[in-house]
Amino acid sequence: MTDPTTAPTARRIPADLPERIQHHIGGRAVDSADGATFDVLDPVTNETYVQAAAGQRADVEAAVAAARAAFEDGPWPRLLPRERSRVLHRVADLVESRDARLARLETFDTGLPITQALGQARRAAENFRFFADLVVAQSDDAFKVPGRQVNYVNRKPIGVAGLITPWNTPFMLESWKLAPALATGNTVVLKPAEFTPLSASLWAGIFEEAGVPAGVFNLVHGLGEQAGDALVKHPDVPLISFTGESRTGQLIFANAAPHLKGLSMELGGKSPALVFADADLDAAIDATIFGVFSLNGERCTAGSRILVERAVYDEFVERYAAQAARVVVGDPSDPATEVGALVHPEHYAKVMGYVELGKREGRLVAGGGRPAGFETGNYVAPTVFADVAPDARIFQEEIFGPVVAITPFDSDAEALALANDTRYGLAAYVWTNDLKRAHNVAQGLEAGMVWLNSNNVRDLRTPFGGVKASGLGHEGGYRSIDFYTDQQAVHITLGKVHNPTFGKGA
Ligand code: NAD
Repeated sequence: MTDPTTAPTARRIPADLPERIQHHIGGRAVDSADGATFDVLDPVTNETYVQAAAGQRADVEAAVAAARAAFEDGPWPRLLPRERSRVLHRVADLVESRDARLARLETFDTGLPITQALGQARRAAENFRFFADLVVAQSDDAFKVPGRQVNYVNRKPIGVAGLITPWNTPFMLESWKLAPALATGNTVVLKPAEFTPLSASLWAGIFEEAGVPAGVFNLVHGLGEQAGDALVKHPDVPLISFTGESRTGQLIFANAAPHLKGLSMELGGKSPALVFADADLDAAIDATIFGVFSLNGERCTAGSRILVERAVYDEFVERYAAQAARVVVGDPSDPATEVGALVHPEHYAKVMGYVELGKREGRLVAGGGRPAGFETGNYVAPTVFADVAPDARIFQEEIFGPVVAITPFDSDAEALALANDTRYGLAAYVWTNDLKRAHNVAQGLEAGMVWLNSNNVRDLRTPFGGVKASGLGHEGGYRSIDFYTDQQAVHITLGKVHNPTFGKGA
Protein backbone atom coordinates (compact mmCIF):
# COMPACT_ATOMS: atom_id res chain seq x y z
CA MET A 1 0.00 0.00 0.00
CA THR A 2 1.36 3.44 -0.81
CA ASP A 3 0.77 6.50 1.32
CA PRO A 4 -1.03 9.45 -0.19
CA THR A 5 0.81 12.72 0.00
CA THR A 6 -1.11 15.61 1.44
CA ALA A 7 -0.61 19.04 -0.13
CA PRO A 8 0.58 21.60 0.71
CA THR A 9 2.98 20.28 3.38
CA ALA A 10 3.98 17.16 1.41
CA ARG A 11 3.55 15.29 4.65
CA ARG A 12 2.97 11.55 4.39
CA ILE A 13 -0.12 10.52 6.36
CA PRO A 14 -0.51 6.72 6.59
CA ALA A 15 -3.57 5.61 4.64
CA ASP A 16 -4.16 2.72 7.00
CA LEU A 17 -4.79 4.54 10.28
CA PRO A 18 -7.51 2.80 12.32
CA GLU A 19 -10.89 4.45 12.87
CA ARG A 20 -10.59 3.85 16.59
CA ILE A 21 -8.21 2.09 18.96
CA GLN A 22 -9.67 -0.70 21.08
CA HIS A 23 -8.62 -3.02 23.89
CA HIS A 24 -7.91 -6.65 23.07
CA ILE A 25 -9.33 -8.98 25.69
CA GLY A 26 -9.68 -12.76 25.47
CA GLY A 27 -9.05 -12.75 21.71
CA ARG A 28 -11.51 -9.98 20.86
CA ALA A 29 -11.19 -6.29 20.08
CA VAL A 30 -13.46 -4.41 22.50
CA ASP A 31 -14.30 -0.90 23.64
CA SER A 32 -14.24 0.08 27.30
CA ALA A 33 -17.19 -1.32 29.24
CA ASP A 34 -18.40 2.21 29.96
CA GLY A 35 -17.53 3.49 26.47
CA ALA A 36 -14.83 5.89 27.81
CA THR A 37 -12.23 7.11 25.32
CA PHE A 38 -9.30 9.50 25.23
CA ASP A 39 -7.82 11.66 22.47
CA VAL A 40 -4.66 10.59 20.68
CA LEU A 41 -2.75 13.49 19.09
CA ASP A 42 -0.64 13.75 15.96
CA PRO A 43 2.65 15.26 17.22
CA VAL A 44 3.17 17.27 14.04
CA THR A 45 -0.18 19.09 14.13
CA ASN A 46 -1.24 18.38 17.74
CA GLU A 47 -4.70 17.59 16.37
CA THR A 48 -6.64 14.57 17.62
CA TYR A 49 -6.36 11.91 14.93
CA VAL A 50 -8.09 9.03 16.69
CA GLN A 51 -9.95 8.09 19.86
CA ALA A 52 -8.62 5.25 21.99
CA ALA A 53 -10.55 3.19 24.52
CA ALA A 54 -9.82 4.46 28.05
CA GLY A 55 -9.59 1.36 30.21
CA GLN A 56 -11.11 1.51 33.69
CA ARG A 57 -11.02 -0.99 36.54
CA ALA A 58 -13.76 -3.13 34.89
CA ASP A 59 -11.73 -3.48 31.68
CA VAL A 60 -8.61 -4.45 33.60
CA GLU A 61 -10.69 -6.99 35.56
CA ALA A 62 -11.90 -8.52 32.28
CA ALA A 63 -8.39 -8.64 30.81
CA VAL A 64 -6.88 -10.22 33.92
CA ALA A 65 -9.71 -12.78 34.03
CA ALA A 66 -9.05 -13.72 30.39
CA ALA A 67 -5.30 -13.97 31.01
CA ARG A 68 -5.85 -16.04 34.13
CA ALA A 69 -8.18 -18.45 32.34
CA ALA A 70 -5.62 -18.86 29.54
CA PHE A 71 -2.95 -19.53 32.13
CA GLU A 72 -4.91 -22.00 34.22
CA ASP A 73 -6.79 -23.90 31.53
CA GLY A 74 -5.14 -23.08 28.21
CA PRO A 75 -2.32 -24.80 26.36
CA TRP A 76 0.26 -22.00 26.38
CA PRO A 77 2.00 -22.61 29.75
CA ARG A 78 1.91 -26.37 29.06
CA LEU A 79 3.64 -26.29 25.68
CA LEU A 80 7.24 -27.44 25.48
CA PRO A 81 9.67 -24.51 25.29
CA ARG A 82 10.53 -25.45 21.71
CA GLU A 83 6.84 -25.38 20.76
CA ARG A 84 6.41 -21.87 22.18
CA SER A 85 9.69 -20.95 20.55
CA ARG A 86 8.37 -21.91 17.10
CA VAL A 87 5.33 -19.66 17.59
CA LEU A 88 7.47 -16.75 18.77
CA HIS A 89 9.79 -17.10 15.78
CA ARG A 90 6.67 -16.70 13.63
CA VAL A 91 5.93 -13.51 15.58
CA ALA A 92 9.43 -12.28 14.68
CA ASP A 93 8.86 -13.22 11.00
CA LEU A 94 5.61 -11.26 10.95
CA VAL A 95 7.17 -8.20 12.61
CA GLU A 96 10.02 -8.32 10.09
CA SER A 97 7.72 -8.68 7.13
CA ARG A 98 5.67 -5.67 8.33
CA ASP A 99 8.55 -3.51 9.50
CA ALA A 100 7.90 -0.73 6.96
CA ARG A 101 4.26 -0.40 7.99
CA LEU A 102 5.10 -0.62 11.68
CA ALA A 103 7.68 2.13 11.27
CA ARG A 104 5.23 4.36 9.35
CA LEU A 105 2.57 4.05 12.03
CA GLU A 106 5.06 4.42 14.88
CA THR A 107 6.50 7.54 13.26
CA PHE A 108 3.05 9.03 12.83
CA ASP A 109 2.09 8.37 16.45
CA THR A 110 5.36 9.25 18.22
CA GLY A 111 7.07 11.85 15.99
CA LEU A 112 10.22 9.68 15.83
CA PRO A 113 12.20 9.94 12.59
CA ILE A 114 11.13 7.21 10.17
CA THR A 115 14.60 5.69 9.69
CA GLN A 116 15.00 5.33 13.45
CA ALA A 117 11.49 3.91 13.87
CA LEU A 118 12.37 1.30 11.26
CA GLY A 119 15.46 0.32 13.26
CA GLN A 120 13.29 -0.02 16.37
CA ALA A 121 10.77 -2.26 14.57
CA ARG A 122 13.62 -4.56 13.49
CA ARG A 123 14.94 -4.59 17.03
CA ALA A 124 11.51 -5.75 18.22
CA ALA A 125 11.75 -8.75 15.88
CA GLU A 126 15.25 -9.50 17.19
CA ASN A 127 13.96 -9.45 20.75
CA PHE A 128 11.42 -12.15 19.88
CA ARG A 129 14.02 -14.30 18.11
CA PHE A 130 16.45 -13.90 20.98
CA PHE A 131 14.06 -15.01 23.74
CA ALA A 132 12.52 -17.72 21.54
CA ASP A 133 16.02 -19.22 21.21
CA LEU A 134 17.04 -18.59 24.81
CA VAL A 135 14.23 -20.62 26.41
CA VAL A 136 15.19 -23.58 24.24
CA ALA A 137 18.93 -23.21 24.84
CA GLN A 138 18.52 -22.92 28.58
CA SER A 139 19.43 -26.18 30.30
CA ASP A 140 17.83 -26.85 33.65
CA ASP A 141 20.18 -26.32 36.56
CA ALA A 142 21.20 -29.58 38.25
CA PHE A 143 23.69 -30.04 41.07
CA LYS A 144 24.91 -33.50 42.00
CA VAL A 145 26.85 -34.90 44.93
CA PRO A 146 27.80 -38.35 43.56
CA GLY A 147 26.21 -41.18 45.49
CA ARG A 148 24.48 -38.83 47.94
CA GLN A 149 22.30 -36.20 46.40
CA VAL A 150 20.75 -34.84 43.25
CA ASN A 151 19.33 -31.32 43.24
CA TYR A 152 17.62 -29.74 40.29
CA VAL A 153 15.55 -26.65 39.55
CA ASN A 154 12.07 -26.60 38.04
CA ARG A 155 11.37 -23.33 36.27
CA LYS A 156 7.69 -22.54 36.08
CA PRO A 157 5.80 -19.66 34.51
CA ILE A 158 4.32 -17.50 37.25
CA GLY A 159 0.92 -16.50 35.91
CA VAL A 160 -0.46 -13.21 34.60
CA ALA A 161 2.31 -10.68 33.98
CA GLY A 162 1.32 -7.01 33.99
CA LEU A 163 3.44 -5.05 31.51
CA ILE A 164 3.38 -1.24 31.73
CA THR A 165 5.34 0.66 29.10
CA PRO A 166 6.30 4.25 28.15
CA TRP A 167 5.82 6.24 24.96
CA ASN A 168 9.41 6.42 23.73
CA THR A 169 10.04 3.65 21.16
CA PRO A 170 6.80 2.01 22.36
CA PHE A 171 6.65 -1.04 20.06
CA MET A 172 10.27 -2.04 20.73
CA LEU A 173 9.99 -1.59 24.50
CA GLU A 174 6.79 -3.65 24.54
CA SER A 175 8.61 -6.44 22.69
CA TRP A 176 11.37 -6.36 25.32
CA LYS A 177 8.79 -7.41 27.93
CA LEU A 178 6.34 -9.44 25.81
CA ALA A 179 8.99 -11.76 24.34
CA PRO A 180 10.46 -13.14 27.60
CA ALA A 181 7.10 -13.13 29.42
CA LEU A 182 5.50 -15.24 26.66
CA ALA A 183 8.56 -17.40 25.93
CA THR A 184 8.56 -18.60 29.54
CA GLY A 185 4.85 -19.54 29.37
CA ASN A 186 3.14 -16.68 31.17
CA THR A 187 0.06 -14.89 29.94
CA VAL A 188 0.05 -11.10 29.86
CA VAL A 189 -1.91 -7.88 30.18
CA LEU A 190 -0.13 -5.01 28.43
CA LYS A 191 -0.92 -1.40 29.39
CA PRO A 192 0.88 0.79 26.85
CA ALA A 193 1.48 4.53 27.23
CA GLU A 194 -1.51 6.76 26.57
CA PHE A 195 0.42 9.21 24.38
CA THR A 196 1.23 6.46 21.84
CA PRO A 197 -1.29 3.60 21.73
CA LEU A 198 -1.19 2.96 17.98
CA SER A 199 1.57 0.41 17.45
CA ALA A 200 0.57 -1.59 20.55
CA SER A 201 -2.73 -2.29 18.83
CA LEU A 202 -0.90 -4.18 16.10
CA TRP A 203 0.34 -6.90 18.44
CA ALA A 204 -3.06 -8.61 18.64
CA GLY A 205 -3.18 -9.37 14.90
CA ILE A 206 0.46 -10.46 14.87
CA PHE A 207 0.02 -12.87 17.78
CA GLU A 208 -3.19 -14.30 16.37
CA GLU A 209 -1.61 -14.93 12.98
CA ALA A 210 1.47 -16.50 14.58
CA GLY A 211 -0.70 -18.97 16.54
CA VAL A 212 -0.63 -17.54 20.07
CA PRO A 213 -3.88 -18.82 21.66
CA ALA A 214 -6.63 -16.32 22.50
CA GLY A 215 -6.37 -14.92 26.05
CA VAL A 216 -2.57 -15.27 26.25
CA PHE A 217 -2.05 -11.67 25.10
CA ASN A 218 -4.41 -9.01 26.43
CA LEU A 219 -4.17 -5.29 25.92
CA VAL A 220 -5.84 -2.53 27.90
CA HIS A 221 -5.30 1.05 26.79
CA GLY A 222 -5.84 3.97 29.10
CA LEU A 223 -4.42 6.45 31.53
CA GLY A 224 -1.76 5.43 34.01
CA GLU A 225 -3.70 6.49 37.09
CA GLN A 226 -6.74 4.49 35.89
CA ALA A 227 -5.86 1.41 33.82
CA GLY A 228 -2.22 1.23 35.01
CA ASP A 229 -3.17 1.65 38.64
CA ALA A 230 -5.88 -1.04 38.44
CA LEU A 231 -3.38 -3.49 36.92
CA VAL A 232 -0.77 -2.81 39.61
CA LYS A 233 -3.32 -3.31 42.40
CA HIS A 234 -4.99 -6.41 40.93
CA PRO A 235 -4.49 -9.38 43.28
CA ASP A 236 -4.36 -11.90 40.39
CA VAL A 237 -1.35 -10.22 38.76
CA PRO A 238 1.74 -11.49 40.59
CA LEU A 239 4.29 -9.71 38.38
CA ILE A 240 4.64 -6.14 37.20
CA SER A 241 7.31 -5.19 34.69
CA PHE A 242 7.39 -1.40 34.43
CA THR A 243 9.38 1.03 32.30
CA GLY A 244 8.83 4.73 32.85
CA GLU A 245 9.64 7.65 35.10
CA SER A 246 11.30 7.13 38.47
CA ARG A 247 8.44 8.98 40.20
CA THR A 248 5.86 6.59 38.70
CA GLY A 249 8.10 3.68 39.68
CA GLN A 250 8.02 4.78 43.32
CA LEU A 251 4.22 4.92 43.24
CA ILE A 252 3.97 1.48 41.65
CA PHE A 253 6.42 0.09 44.21
CA ALA A 254 4.16 1.33 47.02
CA ASN A 255 0.95 0.12 45.37
CA ALA A 256 2.37 -3.35 44.68
CA ALA A 257 3.75 -3.74 48.21
CA PRO A 258 0.57 -5.06 49.88
CA HIS A 259 0.60 -7.99 47.42
CA LEU A 260 4.41 -8.53 47.55
CA LYS A 261 4.47 -8.64 43.75
CA GLY A 262 7.52 -9.39 41.69
CA LEU A 263 8.71 -6.04 40.31
CA SER A 264 11.08 -5.10 37.55
CA MET A 265 11.63 -1.38 37.11
CA GLU A 266 13.47 0.35 34.29
CA LEU A 267 13.36 4.04 35.19
CA GLY A 268 14.73 7.44 34.24
CA GLY A 269 18.28 8.59 33.62
CA LYS A 270 20.62 11.56 33.37
CA SER A 271 23.58 9.72 31.96
CA PRO A 272 27.07 11.23 31.76
CA ALA A 273 29.46 11.02 28.84
CA LEU A 274 33.08 11.54 30.00
CA VAL A 275 35.46 12.81 27.32
CA PHE A 276 39.15 12.75 28.27
CA ALA A 277 41.79 14.83 26.47
CA ASP A 278 43.42 11.69 24.99
CA ALA A 279 40.18 10.52 23.34
CA ASP A 280 39.55 10.25 19.62
CA LEU A 281 37.63 13.55 19.55
CA ASP A 282 36.07 12.97 16.12
CA ALA A 283 34.53 9.69 17.29
CA ALA A 284 33.55 11.13 20.68
CA ILE A 285 31.76 14.09 19.09
CA ASP A 286 29.92 11.95 16.53
CA ALA A 287 28.82 9.44 19.16
CA THR A 288 27.79 11.96 21.80
CA ILE A 289 25.80 13.94 19.21
CA PHE A 290 23.99 10.75 18.20
CA GLY A 291 23.68 9.65 21.84
CA VAL A 292 21.61 12.63 22.91
CA PHE A 293 19.83 13.78 19.73
CA SER A 294 18.77 10.49 18.10
CA LEU A 295 15.26 9.31 19.00
CA ASN A 296 14.52 13.05 19.51
CA GLY A 297 16.50 12.89 22.76
CA GLU A 298 13.60 10.84 24.14
CA ARG A 299 15.96 8.03 25.07
CA CYS A 300 16.38 6.69 28.61
CA THR A 301 20.12 6.13 28.10
CA ALA A 302 20.74 9.54 26.45
CA GLY A 303 24.18 10.89 27.38
CA SER A 304 22.68 14.24 28.32
CA ARG A 305 25.52 15.48 30.56
CA ILE A 306 28.84 15.71 28.75
CA LEU A 307 31.91 16.13 30.96
CA VAL A 308 35.01 17.22 29.06
CA GLU A 309 38.62 17.43 30.25
CA ARG A 310 39.71 21.08 30.42
CA ALA A 311 42.61 20.71 27.92
CA VAL A 312 40.16 19.98 25.06
CA TYR A 313 37.08 21.68 26.50
CA ASP A 314 36.96 24.80 24.30
CA GLU A 315 37.67 22.85 21.13
CA PHE A 316 35.06 20.23 22.06
CA VAL A 317 32.35 22.80 22.82
CA GLU A 318 32.98 24.71 19.61
CA ARG A 319 32.96 21.63 17.38
CA TYR A 320 30.03 20.04 19.24
CA ALA A 321 27.87 23.16 18.92
CA ALA A 322 28.68 23.47 15.21
CA GLN A 323 27.74 19.84 14.59
CA ALA A 324 24.55 20.07 16.69
CA ALA A 325 23.47 23.00 14.52
CA ARG A 326 23.78 20.78 11.44
CA VAL A 327 21.51 18.00 12.80
CA VAL A 328 18.53 17.81 10.43
CA VAL A 329 15.23 18.64 12.13
CA GLY A 330 12.23 17.83 10.01
CA ASP A 331 9.00 16.03 9.38
CA PRO A 332 9.26 12.63 11.06
CA SER A 333 8.13 10.84 7.89
CA ASP A 334 10.98 12.29 5.80
CA PRO A 335 13.89 9.79 5.55
CA ALA A 336 16.37 12.71 5.72
CA THR A 337 15.09 13.75 9.17
CA GLU A 338 17.37 13.14 12.15
CA VAL A 339 15.25 14.85 14.86
CA GLY A 340 11.48 14.79 14.43
CA ALA A 341 8.65 16.18 16.57
CA LEU A 342 8.42 15.54 20.31
CA VAL A 343 5.67 13.17 21.28
CA HIS A 344 3.01 15.43 22.82
CA PRO A 345 2.37 19.12 23.57
CA GLU A 346 2.59 18.46 27.34
CA HIS A 347 6.03 16.94 26.95
CA TYR A 348 7.01 19.70 24.51
CA ALA A 349 6.08 22.35 27.09
CA LYS A 350 8.20 20.55 29.70
CA VAL A 351 11.25 20.38 27.40
CA MET A 352 10.84 24.03 26.31
CA GLY A 353 10.65 25.00 30.00
CA TYR A 354 14.08 23.41 30.50
CA VAL A 355 15.42 25.21 27.41
CA GLU A 356 14.38 28.55 28.91
CA LEU A 357 15.80 27.56 32.31
CA GLY A 358 19.06 26.56 30.62
CA LYS A 359 19.46 30.07 29.24
CA ARG A 360 19.72 31.26 32.86
CA GLU A 361 21.75 28.29 34.12
CA GLY A 362 24.29 27.84 31.31
CA ARG A 363 25.80 29.38 28.17
CA LEU A 364 23.64 28.64 25.12
CA VAL A 365 25.88 27.57 22.22
CA ALA A 366 23.38 25.88 19.87
CA GLY A 367 19.62 25.73 19.36
CA GLY A 368 17.57 27.26 22.12
CA GLY A 369 13.95 26.85 21.05
CA ARG A 370 11.70 26.21 18.09
CA PRO A 371 13.76 25.91 14.90
CA ALA A 372 13.28 28.59 12.25
CA GLY A 373 10.59 27.71 9.72
CA PHE A 374 8.60 25.41 12.05
CA GLU A 375 5.52 27.37 13.08
CA THR A 376 3.54 24.44 14.52
CA GLY A 377 4.20 20.97 15.92
CA ASN A 378 6.43 19.88 18.78
CA TYR A 379 9.78 20.78 17.21
CA VAL A 380 12.85 21.69 19.28
CA ALA A 381 16.18 22.64 17.74
CA PRO A 382 19.03 20.49 19.11
CA THR A 383 20.10 22.61 22.07
CA VAL A 384 23.51 22.75 23.73
CA PHE A 385 24.41 24.53 26.96
CA ALA A 386 28.08 24.89 27.98
CA ASP A 387 29.67 25.82 31.35
CA VAL A 388 26.76 24.29 33.27
CA ALA A 389 27.30 24.12 37.05
CA PRO A 390 26.77 20.69 38.64
CA ASP A 391 23.97 21.96 40.87
CA ALA A 392 22.03 23.44 37.93
CA ARG A 393 18.65 21.83 37.38
CA ILE A 394 19.51 21.18 33.72
CA PHE A 395 22.49 19.17 34.98
CA GLN A 396 20.47 17.21 37.55
CA GLU A 397 16.99 16.63 36.10
CA GLU A 398 15.98 14.33 33.24
CA ILE A 399 14.79 16.52 30.34
CA PHE A 400 14.08 13.69 27.86
CA GLY A 401 14.45 15.88 24.79
CA PRO A 402 17.20 17.14 22.44
CA VAL A 403 18.97 19.19 25.11
CA VAL A 404 22.48 18.63 26.48
CA ALA A 405 24.60 20.21 29.25
CA ILE A 406 28.41 20.38 28.94
CA THR A 407 30.76 20.92 31.91
CA PRO A 408 34.59 20.89 32.20
CA PHE A 409 36.70 18.77 34.58
CA ASP A 410 40.37 18.79 35.60
CA SER A 411 41.14 15.28 36.86
CA ASP A 412 39.89 11.70 36.72
CA ALA A 413 38.67 12.02 40.30
CA GLU A 414 36.69 15.16 39.50
CA ALA A 415 35.23 13.55 36.38
CA LEU A 416 33.99 10.61 38.44
CA ALA A 417 32.61 12.85 41.18
CA LEU A 418 30.68 14.94 38.63
CA ALA A 419 29.46 11.84 36.79
CA ASN A 420 28.12 10.29 40.00
CA ASP A 421 26.61 13.53 41.33
CA THR A 422 23.05 12.58 40.38
CA ARG A 423 20.18 10.56 41.78
CA TYR A 424 20.18 8.50 38.59
CA GLY A 425 22.47 5.62 37.58
CA LEU A 426 21.34 4.18 34.26
CA ALA A 427 24.13 4.52 31.69
CA ALA A 428 27.53 6.18 31.29
CA TYR A 429 29.91 6.66 28.37
CA VAL A 430 33.69 7.00 28.60
CA TRP A 431 35.91 8.34 25.83
CA THR A 432 39.67 7.80 26.34
CA ASN A 433 42.49 5.93 24.63
CA ASP A 434 44.09 5.04 27.97
CA LEU A 435 43.13 1.42 28.67
CA LYS A 436 43.76 1.50 32.41
CA ARG A 437 41.90 4.76 32.87
CA ALA A 438 38.94 3.43 30.87
CA HIS A 439 38.52 0.38 33.12
CA ASN A 440 39.25 2.22 36.36
CA VAL A 441 36.75 4.95 35.54
CA ALA A 442 34.15 2.34 34.49
CA GLN A 443 34.55 0.64 37.85
CA GLY A 444 34.04 3.93 39.71
CA LEU A 445 30.91 4.92 37.81
CA GLU A 446 27.56 4.48 39.57
CA ALA A 447 25.75 3.26 36.45
CA GLY A 448 24.11 0.00 35.43
CA MET A 449 25.66 0.13 31.96
CA VAL A 450 28.94 1.66 30.79
CA TRP A 451 30.02 2.08 27.19
CA LEU A 452 33.76 2.52 26.58
CA ASN A 453 34.54 4.33 23.32
CA SER A 454 31.19 3.02 22.17
CA ASN A 455 27.59 4.03 21.95
CA ASN A 456 24.52 2.02 22.84
CA VAL A 457 25.44 -1.18 20.98
CA ARG A 458 24.59 -4.07 23.25
CA ASP A 459 24.47 -7.84 23.12
CA LEU A 460 21.00 -9.00 24.20
CA ARG A 461 22.57 -11.52 26.59
CA THR A 462 23.95 -8.76 28.84
CA PRO A 463 22.00 -7.28 31.76
CA PHE A 464 20.05 -4.11 31.03
CA GLY A 465 19.08 -1.87 33.93
CA GLY A 466 20.04 0.94 36.22
CA VAL A 467 21.15 1.56 39.79
CA LYS A 468 20.03 4.27 42.26
CA ALA A 469 16.82 5.99 41.06
CA SER A 470 17.19 4.44 37.56
CA GLY A 471 15.82 1.03 38.33
CA LEU A 472 15.26 -2.08 40.27
CA GLY A 473 16.39 -5.42 38.90
CA HIS A 474 17.78 -6.16 35.48
CA GLU A 475 16.31 -7.36 32.23
CA GLY A 476 18.16 -9.00 29.35
CA GLY A 477 19.33 -12.56 28.77
CA TYR A 478 18.74 -14.97 31.65
CA ARG A 479 17.80 -12.12 34.00
CA SER A 480 14.53 -11.77 32.10
CA ILE A 481 13.99 -15.55 32.23
CA ASP A 482 14.60 -15.46 35.99
CA PHE A 483 12.13 -12.60 36.46
CA TYR A 484 9.32 -14.33 34.57
CA THR A 485 9.77 -17.77 36.18
CA ASP A 486 9.41 -19.28 39.63
CA GLN A 487 12.43 -21.38 40.42
CA GLN A 488 11.57 -24.42 42.48
CA ALA A 489 14.50 -26.37 43.90
CA VAL A 490 13.95 -30.15 44.11
CA HIS A 491 16.29 -32.22 46.31
CA ILE A 492 16.70 -36.02 46.24
CA THR A 493 18.78 -37.98 48.71
CA LEU A 494 20.41 -41.04 47.16
CA GLY A 495 21.82 -42.50 50.38
CA LYS A 496 20.13 -43.02 53.77
CA VAL A 497 17.30 -40.55 54.30
CA HIS A 498 16.75 -40.65 58.04
CA ASN A 499 18.94 -39.36 60.80
CA PRO A 500 19.54 -42.55 62.80
CA THR A 501 19.51 -40.89 66.26
CA PHE A 502 17.09 -37.94 66.04
CA GLY A 503 13.80 -38.53 67.96
CA LYS A 504 14.91 -41.79 69.54
CA GLY A 505 15.73 -40.42 72.97
CA ALA A 506 19.03 -40.47 74.75
P1 NAD B 1 5.53 7.48 32.86
O1 NAD B 1 6.09 6.97 34.14
O2 NAD B 1 4.77 8.74 32.86
O3 NAD B 1 4.55 6.38 32.21
C1 NAD B 1 4.97 5.08 31.91
C2 NAD B 1 3.77 4.15 31.93
O4 NAD B 1 3.26 4.09 33.27
C3 NAD B 1 2.61 4.62 31.05
O5 NAD B 1 2.00 3.49 30.45
C4 NAD B 1 1.67 5.25 32.06
O6 NAD B 1 0.32 5.25 31.65
C5 NAD B 1 1.87 4.34 33.25
N1 NAD B 1 1.51 4.93 34.55
C6 NAD B 1 1.53 6.24 34.91
N2 NAD B 1 1.09 6.38 36.18
C7 NAD B 1 0.81 5.14 36.63
C8 NAD B 1 0.33 4.62 37.87
N3 NAD B 1 0.03 5.43 38.89
N4 NAD B 1 0.16 3.29 38.00
C9 NAD B 1 0.46 2.46 36.98
N5 NAD B 1 0.89 2.89 35.77
C10 NAD B 1 1.08 4.21 35.61
O7 NAD B 1 6.77 7.53 31.85
P2 NAD B 1 6.75 8.09 30.35
O8 NAD B 1 6.71 9.57 30.41
O9 NAD B 1 5.75 7.33 29.56
O10 NAD B 1 8.19 7.60 29.84
C11 NAD B 1 9.36 8.35 29.95
C12 NAD B 1 10.21 7.82 31.11
O11 NAD B 1 10.53 6.44 30.89
C13 NAD B 1 11.55 8.53 31.22
O12 NAD B 1 11.82 8.79 32.57
C14 NAD B 1 12.53 7.51 30.67
O13 NAD B 1 13.87 7.63 31.14
C15 NAD B 1 11.92 6.23 31.14
N6 NAD B 1 12.41 5.11 30.35
C16 NAD B 1 13.27 4.23 30.95
C17 NAD B 1 13.80 3.17 30.22
C18 NAD B 1 14.73 2.19 30.86
O14 NAD B 1 14.92 1.13 30.29
N7 NAD B 1 15.33 2.50 32.00
C19 NAD B 1 13.42 2.99 28.88
C20 NAD B 1 12.54 3.91 28.30
C21 NAD B 1 12.03 4.96 29.05
